[in-house]
Amino acid sequence: MILPKSNRLAPDQVAEITRIVEASGCKIQPIVGAVRTIYAIVGDERDELMMTRLEGLDYVERIDRIQSPFKLMDKRSDLASHRLTIGGVTLGEQLFVIAGQCTIDPKNPNYFYETAQAVKEAGANALRGGVWKPRTNPYTFQGDTKSLEILMEASRRTGLPVDTEVMEESHIHLALEAGVTTLQVGARNALNYSLLRAIGKAIANKPTAVLLKRSIHMGPINEFISAAEYIAAFGNPNVILCPRGTTPTLDGYRNHPDESITPLLKEKTWAPVVVDPSHSVGKASYVPACALAAIAYGADGLCIESHVQPSAGIGDDPKQAITPEALARLISQARTLWSLVRG
Ligand code: PEP
Ligand code: MN
Repeated sequence: MILPKSNRLAPDQVAEITRIVEASGCKIQPIVGAVRTIYAIVGDERDELMMTRLEGLDYVERIDRIQSPFKLMDKRSDLASHRLTIGGVTLGEQLFVIAGQCTIDPKNPNYFYETAQAVKEAGANALRGGVWKPRTNPYTFQGDTKSLEILMEASRRTGLPVDTEVMEESHIHLALEAGVTTLQVGARNALNYSLLRAIGKAIANKPTAVLLKRSIHMGPINEFISAAEYIAAFGNPNVILCPRGTTPTLDGYRNHPDESITPLLKEKTWAPVVVDPSHSVGKASYVPACALAAIAYGADGLCIESHVQPSAGIGDDPKQAITPEALARLISQARTLWSLVRG
């Protein structure tokens, strides 16, 4: 829908917008009001070049898009009935919890084995463990491919499916060969379209899932869903949207908690939403409240950093991992809240 700056366009202007839309197989239908005329674009208006050309005209005030920019992830798409099942839980039907360490310490694998067993007993449905880590400081531990073996051994011992972050193409292939169920795309790579395309290609028509974090800097909702569309477009709709806090931070927290975007996401897309309260608030003592808020906002699940002995952990664990005892309490409260919210 084209809204001109003036009350109506001059004939040469109408001819110009008509030429632009016809080049993309669309038509212009003027809607004549008492004072103002607006111009509907009839046809598939998802042609970005057509839209950019129209937006570039100095007599156009704005263009309202009627159609959703996402063909597959839109709530009205044919995929809307798609359901994702991980670790025996169909997302949306019951609370889904991914828990485990931020980072696997390859020098102390026993911590991870103990954490894996403990989060399972606390009620987690899937295990997380960082093998390769995106670190702000280049001199801190960057992860180690050796930890992939530890991750998979913990999966074998507990029977839990695993989630780990991949940052480059080689990680994708190593993780898939090892049997990782869920590939995590971190907040720093959430808009890395070549990585998203590589993941999409690698997991096309496979049961692998993707936990896609929201990009760090106030990532707009449409941009977040469009990133998921990159993966779905290759033929794998198993994408989970993961708000994890955004910046600028809320003074006192690691990021600005953003579990409140859950209803907005759910209005636009059918994709399940799993909130990460750990990176959102960044401190173990604040995690349970943020997690429960996420459930109250309608999240389908939680991704939580937990460690049997947080102070002995590496990466984010010493500051934001909760103990398995705190996790068990939280899962029980979250389940109660889930029933209350979902009726
Ligand atoms: C993580 O999950 O440990 C992580 C690095 O998350 P994010 O990409 O959200 O910072
Ligand atoms: Mn972390």
